[in-house]
Amino acid sequence: MLEPENKQGIVYLIGAGPGDPGLLTLRGRELLAQADVVVYDRLVHPAVLDYARPEALRVFVGKASARHTLTQEEINALLIRHAQEGKRVARLKGGDPFVFGRGGEEAEACRTAGVPFVVVPGITSAIAAPAYAGIPVTHRDAASSFCVITGHEREDGKESGRRAAGQAEGRRDWARLAHAADTLIFLMGVEALPEIVARLQEHGREPETPIALVQWGTWPQQRVVSGTLADIVERVREAGLRPPAVCVVGEVVRLRGRLQWFDDPRRQPLFGKRIVVTRAREQASGLVDMLRTRGAEVLEYPTIRIEKLKDMTELDGALQSLERYAWMVVTSVNTVPVIAERLEALERDARAFAMTKVAAIGPATASILREKLGIRADFVPTEAVAEALIDQWPDREMRGKRVFLPRAREAREMLPERLRAMGAIVDVIPVYETVAMEQPETLLEDLRAGNIDAITFTASSTVKNLMQALAIGSAESNLGAYLKGVCLAAIGPVTGQTLKEYGFEPTIVAEEHTMAGLVKALESYFAKRGKGDG
Ligand code: SAH
Repeated sequence: MLEPENKQGIVYLIGAGPGDPGLLTLRGRELLAQADVVVYDRLVHPAVLDYARPEALRVFVGKASARHTLTQEEINALLIRHAQEGKRVARLKGGDPFVFGRGGEEAEACRTAGVPFVVVPGITSAIAAPAYAGIPVTHRDAASSFCVITGHEREDGKESGRRAAGQAEGRRDWARLAHAADTLIFLMGVEALPEIVARLQEHGREPETPIALVQWGTWPQQRVVSGTLADIVERVREAGLRPPAVCVVGEVVRLRGRLQWFDDPRRQPLFGKRIVVTRAREQASGLVDMLRTRGAEVLEYPTIRIEKLKDMTELDGALQSLERYAWMVVTSVNTVPVIAERLEALERDARAFAMTKVAAIGPATASILREKLGIRADFVPTEAVAEALIDQWPDREMRGKRVFLPRAREAREMLPERLRAMGAIVDVIPVYETVAMEQPETLLEDLRAGNIDAITFTASSTVKNLMQALAIGSAESNLGAYLKGVCLAAIGPVTGQTLKEYGFEPTIVAEEHTMAGLVKALESYFAKRGKGDG
């Protein structure tokens, strides 16, 4: 084939958005997933990197520590070198690559070197950070223009040297900037705040003009300090606010009083809460996303990993002769991808199920069945537990009927036993197993330091694995003390019962036994607690 064509490298200049991983563009995600090399800096949310392939080389050029600073020239050279080796290089930048991101310089360097590039604009912090603080940069009554201006810090959000600040100062036309637009937005402006505030007033902006600084905008640690040109310097000092922050000046800042939403605990009870997700990474993303969109800081400590069994002969056998089965019962989302994969390998498709009815344990399993196999479940019980499935079983006449039950290697026998008691012939076929993962020390440290607000348990296995790992990891085995005050949130009564068996009363047992139900339960728990604390 035309190998040489594939050898042509390329640089994707991608805006990663301001922080909240949901604010990455679809195009950005698509190109990130194709990249061989990902070059990123400090203001890119780590979850955005998960969209890159696991085998992609990740290069941090974040300049967070002065010791490890790559100059702009070194970064340019890095991008070009990889591209010239035929690699697809994703250059991920916070916000928009062409808004104070030096993306222009990187594009120029590519052009000079003859390396092709693509630009994917991103959501800039200049607009998004105020938006997440409830401040629209324009408003029919308050502002009909906005202007984005640089302060004097370096681009990674760290303070620049004093000399650089002084130098840039001399060049600025403050008389023009002060009235450039109704709303003035300063990036990299924390260090220079006293200067900015003084000059704006010197050039005719009223001391009462409202101003706000939004630190870590769109991140779970977002903080906002507001005031007037006259008092903001003092307030920022008192609050100890540091970069990165966006500074907004103008009447629109007052709107936060009415429009605050993201960092408002009354509307977003999970805002800033540190919540542990113990699910296997393969199946955690739905829960993680739901928690993140509500402003929670999610700490992923997968205690288990889902692994497909090596020997697939039993499953293949069943899939080759599906017409023998009256029912297939799917008790976990984990079985579906394995079935889809084997069906594909056997060169069969959804029509293989033409004679077979399908039962799904819950809505998540039903939805993955639709997505991966194009199959609508014939039956989903009202509660996502095996007991409900069998209690509500819709087929009255099971005598002599064959049931195909693919599932985890280790699972409860209740379901096959009760189906057999109804006269069915049940083929239990293990397709995957859950493998315990080593426990990172950091979770224990976080628990010891009292940094964790809640731990979510989405299955009994997550309770078992976490308890085991924590007990092993903690020399003092002082587990009870560490977990005191931490909200232990179980997805349903079975998982809750497992917690009890370990001596812990679940703080929450979700009424609706789904991940959405678990999130809802967490929200109402923290909403109530928020009130209680005053
Ligand atoms: N290209 C970026 C800006 C890079 S300059 C963009 O379009 O957003 C770096 C500065 O951006 C920081 O000093 C800070 O002023 C601002 N910034 C970036 N992300 C931010 C965030 N999440 N919250 C507040 N300010 C942010």
